[in-house]
Amino acid sequence: ALTEKLTRLVKEMRGQARITESNVQDMLREVRMALLEADVALPVVRDFIARVKEKALGQEVLGSLKPGQALVGIVNQELAATMGEGVADINLAAQPPAVILMAGLQGAGKTTTTAKLAKHLIEKRKKKVLTVSGDVYRPAAIEQLKTVTKQAGAEWFPSSPDQKPRDIALAALDYARKHYFDVLLVDTAGRLAIDELLMQEIKDLHAVLNPVETLFVVDAMQGQDAVNTAKAFKEALPLTGIVLTKLDGDSRGGAALSVRAITGAPIKFAGVSEKIDGLEVFDAQRHAGRVLGMGDIVALVEQVTAGVDLEAAQKLAAKVKSGDGFDLNDFLAQLQQMKQMGGLSSLMDKLPAQLTAKAGQVDMDKAERDIRRKEGIICSMTAQERRRPELIKATRKKRIAAGAGVQVQEVNRLLNEFEQMQGMMKKMKGGGLMKLMKKMGG
Ligand code: GDP
Ligand code: MG
Repeated sequence: ALTEKLTRLVKEMRGQARITESNVQDMLREVRMALLEADVALPVVRDFIARVKEKALGQEVLGSLKPGQALVGIVNQELAATMGEGVADINLAAQPPAVILMAGLQGAGKTTTTAKLAKHLIEKRKKKVLTVSGDVYRPAAIEQLKTVTKQAGAEWFPSSPDQKPRDIALAALDYARKHYFDVLLVDTAGRLAIDELLMQEIKDLHAVLNPVETLFVVDAMQGQDAVNTAKAFKEALPLTGIVLTKLDGDSRGGAALSVRAITGAPIKFAGVSEKIDGLEVFDAQRHAGRVLGMGDIVALVEQVTAGVDLEAAQKLAAKVKSGDGFDLNDFLAQLQQMKQMGGLSSLMDKLPAQLTAKAGQVDMDKAERDIRRKEGIICSMTAQERRRPELIKATRKKRIAAGAGVQVQEVNRLLNEFEQMQGMMKKMKGGGLMKLMKKMGG
């Protein structure tokens, strides 16, 4: 089962490397699929692909030695650039108290994020922070803010459901001024869907508060719907930033791309847990890999292509094609290629999360030891034995085992494995190396 897992793993790694040999069209189709799977809105995807294509062709990627590699680089770069460059922290350049207005649908994470931001501003920016809830529709929402504000170590300004949000805001602002707060965070009500009343209310709040930051809080799991929400909020408010919440969920976070494209506002923070410290400065570079669903794909592709001796692989393919047969020398070459890929464990670090989880079940050290032992066994064979493994009977097996310092059973296991591989090669005859590699993973 170990070899099975390993073979699958290597196949998947090679699957990534395959990109190198595909042309731009194929590659772009894959990127397009990846983006759609990540729930990026279709118009955003189209736009993005068009931009990448233009850039790729402009750089004469087609003429370069490793087109796939170059293109992956461009895709990754462009994705990161689209989602934001550099670090965009909260802007506090205003006459204190600097007001931060939180906007978004119900359940997006506004109240949670308000407290997380309060904590961030207290700890990282050494600010005196006041929070207030304008959510007068749900008494529990005001209590919720009170609780999480305490956890954040900030001060909470009381409000009640019988007040108007506008009056609450004015009272809080007045209190913040008189008590020398640096920052006033204003939590607001969200509806389950966008409605006129909600939009008017938050517009009024914006007019009264004149916030230095108007943050659009959006749930990363919202996928395609995030587009409509973002549109509505952008039309109602001059958004200055986005907080993408629930990135700890299993969504690929394509909403980041859509929301950024539609609002033009930078994604400033990412919510990564429901806990008060579950807030991170948004890292576009890292998020790009997640959206593509390929981990640190650039590094991966580079490492894999550097490791795989393409010439040797092509020779092998030619051999299979011509029917020369696949012998133990070829098997040995394959094992050595696995090793060349920078060591399996170092590759593991670069695989996307979905794959690493799978690979977690594989003991890498053991796997590498396993490869070395197999190498040792083949190296103990004569040239003739390697070319004609059918010669290897009991006496030869004993001699080989002794030479490699292993038990005879291990020699048998290796020969079995080789036979399976050979059988597969025969079936694949004429199918080309790529098809073969696919086949290796089943
Ligand atoms: P609001 O209606 O916009 O104020 O949303 P809340 O702040 O009340 O959050 C709605 C739900 O999402 C709550 O159960 C939160 O604990 C949860 N939540 C908010 N942000 C995150 C996050 O980044 N990760 C996770 N896992 N849950 C979150
Ligand atoms: Mg709330």
